[in-house]
Amino acid sequence: MNSPRLEVDLRKLRHNTRTLVERLAVGGIRVTAVTKAVCGHPAIARAMLDGGAVGLAESRLSNAKRLRKAGMDCPITMIRTPMLSQVDDVVKTCAASFNTQTAVISALAAAALRQNKVHGILLMVKMGDLREGIRPDDLGDIAQKVSDMPGVALTGIGANFACMQSIAPTAAKMRALSAMANDVEARCGPSLRTVSGGNSANLHWALGPHATGRINDLRIGEAILLGVDPITGEPIAGLHQDAFTLVAEVIETDAKPMRLLTGKVDHTLVRIRPVPEASDVTRIILALGNQDTDAASLLMPSGCSHIGATSDHLVIGTKDPALCVGAEMRLGMTYSALMRVMVAPDIQIELYNDRPEPTVRNTDGPAKHLALV
Ligand SMILES: *Cc1c(COP(=O)(O)O)cnc(C)c1O
Repeated sequence: MNSPRLEVDLRKLRHNTRTLVERLAVGGIRVTAVTKAVCGHPAIARAMLDGGAVGLAESRLSNAKRLRKAGMDCPITMIRTPMLSQVDDVVKTCAASFNTQTAVISALAAAALRQNKVHGILLMVKMGDLREGIRPDDLGDIAQKVSDMPGVALTGIGANFACMQSIAPTAAKMRALSAMANDVEARCGPSLRTVSGGNSANLHWALGPHATGRINDLRIGEAILLGVDPITGEPIAGLHQDAFTLVAEVIETDAKPMRLLTGKVDHTLVRIRPVPEASDVTRIILALGNQDTDAASLLMPSGCSHIGATSDHLVIGTKDPALCVGAEMRLGMTYSALMRVMVAPDIQIELYNDRPEPTVRNTDGPAKHLALV
């Protein structure tokens, strides 16, 4: 087996998507699946669509193109405001995009006219997070401008929370977004097919006891991929947290635990965590490092702890005698670890259970390996 490798259980991703789709449907909310953390990996995107997501969302044009190249013909929405230099390809690749800048919207409109198309515009409203968005006070004027512009159609509004600051949206904020949707339609006509309430951080609101109002869409990445609430890091009940597993090989063991150096350490290169010195802890090194992933954020099996990592080595303290040279160690993923694994050239991605349930016969045996990407 190749290592290091990322094992991806597509059945678990379908299950996570399906579970969220069904729970959110109760409040009239659909799921747009966000594939940016997995770089628009087509098989993962397919699993999300098989799980009931109505479309895909991407922040990078390159990932959206990768999805199209793999034959995905579902709606793909750009969720990062398009670069002015990429408007032609954005219109070619995506039916719609989230926007905050009138200069970009005008350029998208011109590109759409050149291509004989109408490009959908969703306006992102700033509602608390310090990242992108139009100020609520400016929304009406910009919505009017977009409605009057040939080449584009105003199809939605949305908000984003908890990306820059870990603050979950409140019910009051979500009511305000609903009210904005009504105000825009009062002024521009009933055009808003999508009122997108945010990302995985909004699930606790969307699945809570609140009225969902005009919100009919969430853009979900992390909760599907990792089954956790991004704000608390807590598992979401009923979802798999282990759809992704990173496997790396032990290249050195040291029976005698070493005392950690406390002298001069270049913290830009090495991150170390002090571990209690216990005589039954062995120090091992994995052939994996910060060039492959965010090593410090990996989830260790019990009895193992992160000691430190450099670009190519990950040092771990363990009580597991089976972790000898040549043995493999399985590590759980966090968002930042996953995001980096997906772009690392040395990580093999191995897909398991690459078919929807009805056609899979052997579901309890070891997952069937189908494809190497
Ligand atoms: C990344 C992103 C999402 C998805 O966030 P998750 O926490 O992965 O669900 C949604 N919307 C926007 C604008 C994003 O940038």
